[in-house]
Amino acid sequence: MPAYLHIFFDLDHTLWDFERNSSETLAELYEHYQLHQYGSFSVQEFTQTFHQVNQRLWSLYNRNIIDQHTLRHERFRYIWEALGAFGLPPSGLAEDYSAICPTKPHLLPHARETLDYLTTRYRLHIITNGFHDIQQIKIRSAGIAHYFETVTTSQNAGAKKPQQAIFHYALARIGAAARQAIMVGDNLETDITGAKSSGLDAIFYNPGQIAHQEQVTLEIRCLSELQRYL
Ligand SMILES: [Mg+2]
Repeated sequence: MPAYLHIFFDLDHTLWDFERNSSETLAELYEHYQLHQYGSFSVQEFTQTFHQVNQRLWSLYNRNIIDQHTLRHERFRYIWEALGAFGLPPSGLAEDYSAICPTKPHLLPHARETLDYLTTRYRLHIITNGFHDIQQIKIRSAGIAHYFETVTTSQNAGAKKPQQAIFHYALARIGAAARQAIMVGDNLETDITGAKSSGLDAIFYNPGQIAHQEQVTLEIRCLSELQRYL
């Protein structure tokens, strides 16, 4: 591996355990709003449907086909449709989800010890397509703010991964050249192709071992593997 100075991390599904934090929030909201009254769906079906719909909406959001407001506010309407639930989602559900989920602290396996190791050797940063307010809350809730010198969100960069503009913005903030940095992320489309097209090396975090054709600098199944290579 070349001598990098900087490591850029993606946040959701790479460090912050979106799946677990989100599922915990949805289970609380299912109880609070007594969602079983809206149809014959279980908490597991509610959670599973949320994640399917959410992934589809995020993919549209990343490609600038829908905006933040649509993603945040229409999400549960689509979930209602997909579940065949009665009426409309209770008012307050979308707002409560957005308020509670980012306060959850769970990180992916070995995230903290890996950051402890890397922080003494590299300057660490985040590049995320999330919303600035929400991402800051997640970082603080998980107790990882102190590891990162900069946090670049698509909101403050005015561009989203995989656009080169967000990577150039993040590099310019720290006065670094692309070859001095490497990106670690779980999304081939946004993190990996985005970093590569911007001149950065890229590590694909692929815990689910999905098959792909992309050329990557390194592929890992567990964050702890980074200690072997970096
Ligand atoms: Mg991600």
